Amino acid sequence: AKHSGDSRHLKFADGMAQRSITMMNMENDLRHALNRDELELHYQPKVGFDGRTVVGAEALIRWRHPRLGLISPAEFIPLAEDSGLIIPIGRWTLATACQQMVEWRRRGVAPPSVSVNVSVRQFNDSALIETVRETLARTGLPATCLDLEITESVMTGDVERAVNTLTTLKAMGVTLSMDDFGTGYSSLNYLKTFPIDTLKIDQTFVRDVGQNPKDTAIVATIVSLARNLGFNVVAEGVETEDQVALLRENNCRLFQGYWVSRPLAVADFTDYLAQAREG
Ligand code: C2E
Ligand code: CA
Ligand code: CA
Ligand code: CA
Repeated sequence: AKHSGDSRHLKFADGMAQRSITMMNMENDLRHALNRDELELHYQPKVGFDGRTVVGAEALIRWRHPRLGLISPAEFIPLAEDSGLIIPIGRWTLATACQQMVEWRRRGVAPPSVSVNVSVRQFNDSALIETVRETLARTGLPATCLDLEITESVMTGDVERAVNTLTTLKAMGVTLSMDDFGTGYSSLNYLKTFPIDTLKIDQTFVRDVGQNPKDTAIVATIVSLARNLGFNVVAEGVETEDQVALLRENNCRLFQGYWVSRPLAVADFTDYLAQAREG
């Protein structure tokens, strides 16, 4: 189980009524979570071909709920999106990840960049660009040290606007990753117009790579597509040595997943970075 104790009843509540009461409480609690300092970011490394060189880190949010314990983003991000709380939460996440990078750089252990997840609602918020610009200015983090992970669902809205937003971010020096690549609804057409740097192969394709010939074919195809278009490609959810071997065989050179490390709290990730530097 991902987390212990009470939080199980969020998933397995006895019927809708009870569940919606729980959700209402949760929305209320989430409203205060920011002010009460209950949100935290964990970090997961992205590594190079050797499986050791850290090429980046993804910030993943967790909610340390006073009664329910550590709640995964899968449980509260949808709620945050529906309620609009994702906007202040997203600002906090961006600021916290940038500040953390500045701190790691000061200590000489920083990865080249930190990746921050941006959900559709945040992406469509007219203040996004200003928030990013302001956060970089205030923290002093160079824009090239910030990577934003978006999903194909940003394509379901106003495409021209989406391209403009991405182009503006890109012009600032921020890099862009397409998260969960291959699971969305959009066509390949956007790959021509989106100024993307990296494709992240969704873990559903990585899971059975080498076992299921179709998944292996999909992975191989995404890798060659990415390379032909000049994008980096990261395999996510890499758990086993076998998956790594198959991914390497198919020219995938960047890995993220439990095989490298689980997402770690700041202190543990800082240790990880220091050790990675020592080699
Ligand atoms: P994601 O962006 O696709 O993140 C990858 C998820 O896979 C993370 O789950 C990570 O902990 C998990 N993971 C990493 N390696 C492995 C592995 O080897 N095996 C398996 N089975 N899982 C692995 P997590 O942290 O629970 O996050 C879930 C989702 O919540 C994220 O999916 C992302 O969509 C969203 N999320 C997380 N943090 C944020 C945030 O700060 N802002 C926004 N808007 N969304 C976030
Ligand atoms: Ca992500
Ligand atoms: Ca992903
Ligand atoms: Ca995902």
